[in-house]
This record gives sequence, structure tokens and C-alpha cells, in this order.
Amino acid sequence: MRFKGHLVAPGPTEVPPDVLLSMAKSVPHHRSDDFIPLFEKVREDLKWLFQTKNDVLILASSGTAAMESAVSNFLKRGDKAIVVRGGKFGERWAEILSVYGCVPVNIDVEWGKAVDPSLVEKALKENPDAKAVYIQASETSTGVKHPFKEVAELVRERDGTIMVVDAITALGVFDVQTDEWGLDIVVGGSQKALMLPPGLAFISVSEKAWKLSETSDLPRYYLDLKKEKKNQLKAQTAYTPAVSLIVGLSKSLEMLKEEGLENIFKRHRILSKGVREGLKAMGLKLLAEDSPSEAVTAAICPEGIDGQKVVKYLREKFKIIIAGGQDRLKGKIFRIAHIGYYDPFDMILTLSAVEMALKDMGYEISLGSGVKRAMEIYWEAMRDGKG
Ligand SMILES: *Cc1c(COP(=O)(O)O)cnc(C)c1O
Repeated sequence: MRFKGHLVAPGPTEVPPDVLLSMAKSVPHHRSDDFIPLFEKVREDLKWLFQTKNDVLILASSGTAAMESAVSNFLKRGDKAIVVRGGKFGERWAEILSVYGCVPVNIDVEWGKAVDPSLVEKALKENPDAKAVYIQASETSTGVKHPFKEVAELVRERDGTIMVVDAITALGVFDVQTDEWGLDIVVGGSQKALMLPPGLAFISVSEKAWKLSETSDLPRYYLDLKKEKKNQLKAQTAYTPAVSLIVGLSKSLEMLKEEGLENIFKRHRILSKGVREGLKAMGLKLLAEDSPSEAVTAAICPEGIDGQKVVKYLREKFKIIIAGGQDRLKGKIFRIAHIGYYDPFDMILTLSAVEMALKDMGYEISLGSGVKRAMEIYWEAMRDGKG
């Protein structure tokens, strides 16, 4: 059988044909009139997505570089910072801090659980000199959504402490009210809900954070946000921008704006619910039971079934790409993404493939059980006009 192929991993995600076509048309010169108005437009549209009046800087890099810049531009050597470490990406914050000679105060959260804000409150009390709190809005490695709004409330009142949110799988998925909730730094990336290829990162910076940056003494060259801001305010970039991706970004932001934030959030809510309920109807347990992210769902593999083999099966037999577990979760879970350019039928298709793979691998399942449940949820949502 020849299969068409589907990408259902939590980044890179599927890129809509209109976005691909927009990038194929031409490559404008970055100092030309073909580019400058477009750059100004995407910078405005990003403010809409980030729900902020602050500048959103665009970097030619993967998301991790923006995470790194959120350390290197704001802290001093030896500074303490509180890190919510509940997965692979939480660990990344701590690693970046250590590389720069800062001191991460780690709040270790069981993988699959959300942080309890009272633990952050306690850490802040015990470390009144902490300069920042680093957290993921959505921890992609476990499929957990952290209560970052509640955590931000604890940080907001403290003069010398900033709230830094990795929202790479949250922006364009669920509500991230940058200004309203007092999120000083918010980081985004192109290859997740923005429906673009990898290669762009975004970072918004509040006044409070810019103030802290004045005392920062960490080394930086390419990722110098102050230099970027100075240039980007003039619709320029400090170095050659990823022009083609920015052309694509203009198109993808147009599509998102047309859909509207509320509808985008609703779509991800419904898609994720169908996947969660579908997996449960297959008899599987979810890793993030209490606080699931609407970006990605992690299913715990049944006894005797290796998650890596499920992923491999889908890729090799059906050309469907889902994700496995990382590090300590390797082999124990598989992850289905619903972040970006997806609709209910993409989810039904993916669930059906998972069912067939599991059955072939010896798991006892009545084919259609998960699909049926997902269909019911999508059907109800569409019938009630909620879809
Ligand atoms: C994808 C992702 C990143 C960025 O990874 P890059 O590979 O550097 O783009 C960071 N944080 C989270 C939560 C992510 O999902």
C-alpha cells in the first residue's frame, strides 16, 4: 500500500499550502521596499498574537536561542533564578542558566504533573534575591500545561524579579495574555502553532525586563536583544533576517488573524479533548491527567508495548509522524500533536493509525473504539456550533 504521509508531531508541524506558496514566490532583499512594510506588518501582527503592546523581536534561530537570550540579556554572573523543571524543556532553562554561570534554583516537578504555584511562592520566599522565574506555559515533553498565570501573579509584585515564559507551544494554542498577566518575557517559535518551517524565534520584553537588562553582564554577541530592538524599531534587523520565513510568517499570521484568537483557542481545546478521550477509550492512560496542554497529548504505553516502536511503526508502515518520549520517558509514552494546522479529521486519522498499530503489536483493542469516541466529541462540538 502506498501512503500519503502526515505530520502530527509537536513541532515541526504541518505547513499550510498557502504559506508554502507565499515563500516560493520570491526572496525580497531585506533592505528593500518589498520587505520593509512586510516586516513592519508582521511585527504588529505578532503583538496581536502575544497580546502585548511591547515589542516582539524576531530572531533568525530556533526557539532555544530565544530561550538563551532570555537569560544572557537579563542576568548577571552568579544571579539566582527559579526554574520550574518538570520536563525536557524545563531542564533546558536550568542548563542555560548554568552555562552562563547563574544559579538555577530548581523546582523539580514530577514529569506529567503541573507545578503547584505554592512551591514557587516558597522558593521566592527562600530566595528573595532571585532575579527571575523561568517556566514553560506548555511543557511539550510531557504534554502538561503549567499554571503560569498564577505563578506570574506571585512575581508581579516583586520589583527585582521578572517572569519568563517559554510559550513556544502555547502561543496560538491557548490564552497567553502577556501584558494583562504581567509576563515580562515571552518566547515563541515558528515551527509550532505558527505553522511555519523551523528557523524563527520570537521574544517579547517588558519595561521591567529591559530595566533589569541594564545591569546584565553576561556575554552575548548575535543574541543581543538591545541591538535587535534598536534595529527592529526601524524595520531593520541587526544581521540578515530569515527573509523567506518572514514572508511565510506574514501569511500564517494573516490566516491566524482571520480565524481569531478565540476560535483558535476553541479549536485546540476541541481537538485536544477528542484525542485525550479517544486514547482513553482505547484503554490507554494519559501522562498529564490533571493539567493537559491543548498542544500535545502524551499517552502512556500499555504493558509490554514500547512507545518507540509505536512511533516507528506509524512512520514506517503508514508514513505518519508522531513523537515518542524523551529521556526517562523514552519507550514509555507516545505523543500526538494537535498544535497548528489541524482539524478533527487529522485527529481521527491519527487515532485510527494508532489503533491499528497497537492491535498489530499485540494490544487487545476493538478497532474503532478510540476513533468512535473522538468522532462523538467532534460531532457534538460541531453540532453545538462550538467547533
Ligand atoms: C519546540 C520547543 C522549544 C524550542 O526548541 P527548538 O528546537 O530550539 O526550536 C522550546 N520549548 C518548548 C516548550 C518547545 O516545545
